[in-house]
Amino acid sequence: MASITLKNLVKKYGDGFPAVNDVSLDIADGEFIILVGPSGCGKSTLLRMIVGLEDITSGDLLINGERVNDKAPRDRNLAMVFQNYALYPHLTVFENIAFPLRLAKGKYTDEQVRKLVNDAAATLELTEHLDRKPANLSGGQRQRVAMGRAIVRQADAFLFDEPLSNLDAKLRGQMRSEISQMQRRLGTTSVYVTHDQTEAMTLGDRVAVLKKGILQQVASPRELYEQPVNLFVAGFIGSPSMNFLPATVEGNVLRTAVGDLTIPQEKAAKAAGKGIVLVGIRPEFFEDAKFVDEAKRPHGSVFSAPISHTEWLGNEQYGYIPFNPDPEVKELLDNLARDMDADALRPQIVVTLDSASRIRGGRDAELWLDTRKVHLFDPETGDNLT
Ligand code: ATP
Repeated sequence: MASITLKNLVKKYGDGFPAVNDVSLDIADGEFIILVGPSGCGKSTLLRMIVGLEDITSGDLLINGERVNDKAPRDRNLAMVFQNYALYPHLTVFENIAFPLRLAKGKYTDEQVRKLVNDAAATLELTEHLDRKPANLSGGQRQRVAMGRAIVRQADAFLFDEPLSNLDAKLRGQMRSEISQMQRRLGTTSVYVTHDQTEAMTLGDRVAVLKKGILQQVASPRELYEQPVNLFVAGFIGSPSMNFLPATVEGNVLRTAVGDLTIPQEKAAKAAGKGIVLVGIRPEFFEDAKFVDEAKRPHGSVFSAPISHTEWLGNEQYGYIPFNPDPEVKELLDNLARDMDADALRPQIVVTLDSASRIRGGRDAELWLDTRKVHLFDPETGDNLT
């Protein structure tokens, strides 16, 4: 098993903008780390640099403390699991899994190959499919064969490049939990690239968020959700996305387009001297005021807001509050949406409501907001001030 250290890694294709820009990261032995970010942020390039499929423009890559920048991929002892599985259609499952062992000519006896493949197949519950060809397997089973190939190599680390993106939503969920359980069981250092934040949040010990080649934050899923360092991370992590609402701060009151919000003094103090701030509020920080537990109520404030419409999802509802941003704020929201690869950040607030809430569109609603959780962002730098 292996630790992997990235020191100031840079990748430039030609003279262009760096696809990976000064990325430093320590991946501990046995750790499961996720590289996440929108399309084009450089996550696949970074993974390909680690495995050796892409030259490193500058910086150092260390595996178990040894610099491997100039080592060929086959000498790095890392196993890559690709999106398209890279299975051979004419070979059986057994031979597909055995493939890397057969490649290392003479290193393994037939008996050893049989044992390694059978053990991997048992771990992956593929034993009864060993004689089949890939065409006769489901997407999930093919995925497991690709994983089997990584396991038999007894690689120091697994590198996954969006392995689930070809699967339908249900299978993706199932495979996600299989990969997670298998990684914990084997304890093999793993680096996993995805643009899917659910995968990032559920699989990783830590998640590294990239934007335009630059590492924004590396933290546990909980820390990313609760303490995002900037607007980008805050907007990228969480679903529905965090709401961003422009406000001016007066004492401990935020004056916003949907009304005044009183926040804890120590939070407001962090935005002292700023003209406009962006208030970051996750939909789930709101509740229908009628449903708030009494113990919690003093930690937030109640306000009234016009709900345009609601969506009922069974286990919860979403309520929408439109607001009119001035042109400057609209531009800021548009830029942010572009960075996050989102269609647009609508000038509206989404609130999560209890499924039993009677709040409906076309009327004002009494909402409670947990003001302890509100974030304040500097609109110029994007930094989280709180
Ligand atoms: P996706 O999720 O769409 O795969 P990504 O985050 O994995 O995106 P990369 O594929 O690493 O992003 O690409 C990062 C940047 O480098 C992009 O701007 C891309 O256009 C550019 N790029 C990637 N490969 C090459 C290449 N071979 N030549 C030139 N530019 C490249």
